[in-house]
Amino acid sequence: MSSAPLNLLFLPGDGIGPEIVAATRQVLEAAGAQFDLTLNFEEAQIGFTALEANGITIPDAVIEAARNCDGIVLGPVSHNDYPPLSEGGLNPSGVLRKRLDLFANIRPAMTRAGLVPPCGTPFDLIVVRENTEGFYSDRNMASGPGEIMPDEDMALAIRKITRAACRRIAEEAFKLAATREARHVTAVHKANVLRLSDGLFLEEVRKVAARYPQIAYDEVLVDAMAAQLVRDASRYDVIVTTNMYGDILSDLASELSGSLGLAASLNAGTDHAMAQAQHGSAPDIAGCDIANPASLIGSAVMLLDWLGERRDDPALTRAAAAISAALERAIADPEGRTADLGGACGTSEFAARLAADLR
Ligand code: ATP
Repeated sequence: MSSAPLNLLFLPGDGIGPEIVAATRQVLEAAGAQFDLTLNFEEAQIGFTALEANGITIPDAVIEAARNCDGIVLGPVSHNDYPPLSEGGLNPSGVLRKRLDLFANIRPAMTRAGLVPPCGTPFDLIVVRENTEGFYSDRNMASGPGEIMPDEDMALAIRKITRAACRRIAEEAFKLAATREARHVTAVHKANVLRLSDGLFLEEVRKVAARYPQIAYDEVLVDAMAAQLVRDASRYDVIVTTNMYGDILSDLASELSGSLGLAASLNAGTDHAMAQAQHGSAPDIAGCDIANPASLIGSAVMLLDWLGERRDDPALTRAAAAISAALERAIADPEGRTADLGGACGTSEFAARLAADLR
């Protein structure tokens, strides 16, 4: 029996976005043909291209298309360079995370066969980052930004932590840990100073932990965790944490694994999921065909996996596993590596090699 059609929305974004989105699309097309998947691709503009055409970096029509498709592949965006909100500069990533309630940002980081990691010790961990509140001023309020400036010499940032969001991110982390060999969850916090907000986070995580006695559970302060990851990341399996700590620690873990260019992630909610590389739009290397698309291809693998599980469709799961294995082979081969990993393979050549391997 062949799979039900899958409607995927590609949003190229800014900087290296169009290059790595095109590479990801090429690899998905090859996997689709190989595994008899019916993949329908739609592309829409966000970021500077949309700003020029529509006066806004994420038009309502794109949000609607994202809501109606089966999965989204989001390219990185240069939101720091956008004009103010009043002139159409919205962060598309934040908007989609909020509007589609993509509350879990799953960020794996692992060392790869054949690639000597900067940290020396092999590791395989996942940061499960809360994605809808915390200090993120573009999405933590129902209306208005979570940052205010009462006078020119003072700025205030509001950090929002709710029981419901802590509970569901903890649930996500424990469910994930239950599928892994190490079966270990570490909650990362700073409850020694942020007693109320991080205290509330810990209370909720502990309640969920009590329902998973088969999973080892511990807690580490965020500053200690930064040091521990550098010292020996192999001690950790699933790290669950609030928005900003997760953002920072996952970049650290990715770089320890080899490069930000390998850093995949999935933004998942109950009804929607969006593949998105962990890194930004890398304007310093945009248009040079040297960016590593493994980050976004790996993110698309996570999306296929999520859809495979949700639809109970083994063909999607098999396609995800095949791309993942081909990605590992490409990274293990010094000839096939991009510049960030010391190789000379271009973005488009990397994608072409991967597509050929899949065939
Ligand atoms: P943001 O604030 O949106 O995360 P940033 O400018 O701080 O953006 P990135 O855009 O992630 O950070 O870039 C950080 C560095 O990593 C840059 O030198 C960039 O070239 C490099 N980099 C990021 N992504 C890739 C990639 N896919 N391939 C190769 N190098 C990358």
